[in-house]
Amino acid sequence: MYSGRVMAEYGLMPAADPGPAHAVPLPVLVVGGGPAGLAAAAELARHRVGCILIEPRTEVSHRRPRAKTTSIRTMEHLRRWGAADALRAAAPLPVSWSQRVTFCESLSGPRITDFDGAFGLTVGRDDRFAEAGQQVPQPVVEEVLRDHLRRQRGVVLRLGHSAVALTQDDAGVTVAVRDAAGSGYLIRARYVLGCDGASGVTRELAGARYAGRADPRPNFNLVFRAPSLDPHLGPAVQYWVVGAGPSGTSGLIGRLDLGGTWWAILPGVEAAYGTAHAAELITGLIGARVDHEVLATDPWTARMLVADTFRDRRVFLVGESAHVNPPWGGHGFNTCVGDAVNIAWKIAAVERGWAPPDLLASYEPERRGVVEQTVASAEANMRAPADGLPRDAAAIQRAKRAEFYSLGLVLGYSYAGSPVVQPAAAGPAPAPADATSYTPSAEPGARLPHFWLPDGSSLYDRLGRGFTLVGPTGPADPAVADLAKRAARRRIPLTVTSPPSGYPWRAEFLLVRPDQHVAWRADDPAGLDIETAAGFDVASRRAR
Ligand SMILES: Cc1cc2nc3c(=O)[nH]c(=O)nc-3n(C[C@H](O)[C@H](O)[C@H](O)COP(=O)(O)OP(=O)(O)OC[C@H]3O[C@@H](n4cnc5c(N)ncnc54)[C@H](O)[C@@H]3O)c2cc1C
Repeated sequence: MYSGRVMAEYGLMPAADPGPAHAVPLPVLVVGGGPAGLAAAAELARHRVGCILIEPRTEVSHRRPRAKTTSIRTMEHLRRWGAADALRAAAPLPVSWSQRVTFCESLSGPRITDFDGAFGLTVGRDDRFAEAGQQVPQPVVEEVLRDHLRRQRGVVLRLGHSAVALTQDDAGVTVAVRDAAGSGYLIRARYVLGCDGASGVTRELAGARYAGRADPRPNFNLVFRAPSLDPHLGPAVQYWVVGAGPSGTSGLIGRLDLGGTWWAILPGVEAAYGTAHAAELITGLIGARVDHEVLATDPWTARMLVADTFRDRRVFLVGESAHVNPPWGGHGFNTCVGDAVNIAWKIAAVERGWAPPDLLASYEPERRGVVEQTVASAEANMRAPADGLPRDAAAIQRAKRAEFYSLGLVLGYSYAGSPVVQPAAAGPAPAPADATSYTPSAEPGARLPHFWLPDGSSLYDRLGRGFTLVGPTGPADPAVADLAKRAARRRIPLTVTSPPSGYPWRAEFLLVRPDQHVAWRADDPAGLDIETAAGFDVASRRAR
């Protein structure tokens, strides 16, 4: 617990009404309201578990757009939360406007090659997923999620507040918080999700350290207005200006909206040079002088970092507080959302009394592999920067394909090997997932293969908030009824649904977790260990 002395040490004056810091333990305190924190709160809200989210930024900044790629998988999570349509409506670039990345000599120069259907952008229905990807600036995603959370019961958004210190004991965590006026107060919660990014405080307070390295090359981002700019190359979500040589300008450029606001990334450009020569750099990318107004600049360096641990007892590191990868491929914020969903449904299950705290031990084993694969893939993409590519279509197609088509990474990752996922049958280990192509699989650990139903709805819309049995028979089957009884004994919520005809796994019983991953599969429901999947007696049950 914090004494008045410790509060003073952090420069915290008691707030006028600090609230009941110790009286009513809050289930979860979410520290940080970037994509990871907002996603964690949305997932907790889906399971009706309360949280307070503290975030220093009262407003999101549209001048620092950062992520634009919202992956198919993140869109599927938004659909689970009931926020996918709101995001599509708020996105300034509709998917139908363009699904293309164009490589060119400049925006006024010749086209070199295109990648169509990049980043999971498609207007057609595809049985493999419930939602297409979406290009949308990160601040828009954050605003949509803030609005979504404001409508959720049990979620309190405290904007202008930041964490400064924490202590924990067997029953909970006490966090010292500073509000916008500089006053301090304490929040007591059973769990803390450290979603405060790379420069937050939770990682250090939890005793974790990043391992990895930073790329020595600088990068320089620009946001500018140029309403008259309308490239002859036609619509594209990104234009890569390549092969300009040492004296020219290479980089990426794209529209933030259809009203004349643009972003650009200039690899290898120092902040001081970029600031002084912004007009020259913009002219270089466009290949002609165009009236423009620079709105913002944002220097950054790529980093490949993974924390040595994602957990300290009741404190979990989520998103960039646990790992950072270069933005190439557009996985950064999507991986953070994946972390948030993974830990939040598990904490919700514990809080709602249908899973033991042991379930939480599966967070790091499940996410570490995904994170490491993402960091490696993003680093590989970084090895072919805009200023290192030749003006050669075939060479570009070879070098950049994995960056724009990464469905294997986005949908094909698996939690196989997790203590709460059915162990693989003896035999040769499956080959690691290919990052570019995705082959639907119902192997335990994989994301449930998606399918569209005859009425136009998604199989995912039939899944419950808890576990779901997807199988050929329903509750009238005594074996299914028996599984339901076992679930009820442990108070595990279980929904039962049948897949449509044509579903390739129709004859099997698939036990699906709240995050849509297959926990167990069997020919008979008696073979589904729902207790282990929910974290009960994990060690002893798996030893049998
Ligand atoms: C140029 C660039 C382009 C990118 N493009 C993409 C892309 O296309 N697709 C993609 O997926 N990703 C992309 N990314 C990465 C993406 O921006 C990050 O991965 C994402 O923002 C990380 O989310 P987060 O919530 O973990 O952390 P952050 O976004 O850093 O959020 C952390 C939050 O915690 C708050 N905070 C900090 N300290 C405290 C404290 N003490 N108490 C409480 N709150 C605190 C901060 O204010 C912040 O809001 C890009 C990044 C860059 C630099």
